[in-house]
Amino acid sequence: MSQNDLPPGAFTDAVNAIGNTPLIRLNRLTSHLQGSEVWVKLERCNPGGSIKDRIGLQMVLDAEANGLLKPGGTIVEATSGNTGIGLAMVAAQRGYKCIFTIPDKMSSEKIDLLRAIGAEVHICPTAVDKEDPRSYYEVAARLGREVPGAWYPDQYSHLANPLAHVLSTGPEIWKQTAGRLTHFVATMGTGGTITGCGKAVLDAAKGAGSKPPQIVGVDAVGSILKEYFDHGTMGEPKTYLVEGFGEDFLPPATDFSLIDEIRPVDDETCFRTARSLARMEGLFCGGSAGGAVQIAIDMAEEADERGEAAFFVVILPDAGNPYLSKFYNDDWLRENGFNPDEWE
Ligand code: PMP
Repeated sequence: MSQNDLPPGAFTDAVNAIGNTPLIRLNRLTSHLQGSEVWVKLERCNPGGSIKDRIGLQMVLDAEANGLLKPGGTIVEATSGNTGIGLAMVAAQRGYKCIFTIPDKMSSEKIDLLRAIGAEVHICPTAVDKEDPRSYYEVAARLGREVPGAWYPDQYSHLANPLAHVLSTGPEIWKQTAGRLTHFVATMGTGGTITGCGKAVLDAAKGAGSKPPQIVGVDAVGSILKEYFDHGTMGEPKTYLVEGFGEDFLPPATDFSLIDEIRPVDDETCFRTARSLARMEGLFCGGSAGGAVQIAIDMAEEADERGEAAFFVVILPDAGNPYLSKFYNDDWLRENGFNPDEWE
């Protein structure tokens, strides 16, 4: 039986269950808003647990179509965890092997999970330049050259990364908001999410003859992306604790021309808001989700003050589970200089 013969909600395999995630309205965190609304796209509902399932599939489809990945081949990738999980799920379903390089700041749960789905994982130092032979980018590039039958997708430059969101995430958002979208908010790592979703919703708005939605990027304090966008200059990157977004170089997958504004968030804002999302909305997600939600709420308050009824959609990229031993743990927060006792 093929996928097309099945009723909605039934799937022939895990890969066919990727996408069509729920869009959910925030209520308690936004109860002070007058005319504006904030809705969130719950990407943890993908079978591998994050938005990166979508690009894992799209990059593999592209490699298969172009003969880069042959039966029994090996996928080699540099990943902060979620792309690896997406790729490993697709690999498990299709019989490929996986080797991943991951920076040492990533949670042990993500590393254990990659190993649980059958991947070989190489842990690399976070605090070295991208060009350093020890960096997780360079180790992945080298393994991609050395391992026989290896394919190194490189999500930072692969066009199937934004394409996955042009084809799936963006159109889902447009359909789920019934044309009401005024602001799209996403954290920026590779920039695939903001580029692909941004393009899709801008094209859809144009096609519908409606006002183009604002495309808002969220960058981590310590990353170089916001300074580049605002001033065209490359600042000195600093390390930070929140995982999955912000970069120390310009990812070719990002199309900055689609973006209207980039706002910064610090670690504390990400962690506090993620914990509030769990406790007040029942949405247990990662730190990047927290940061993006806080920016959307701030902007919704500003829209309210201007008397506008804005409609925000925020991407929540992954689940909270990989961070239980990190910012969901009060001792870890205290050890890292935060004071969770003062947080509500
Ligand atoms: N948040 C998390 C948890 C992620 O894993 C990623 C992907 N690195 C992002 C946000 C950023 O998404 P993108 O790479 O599409 O910009």
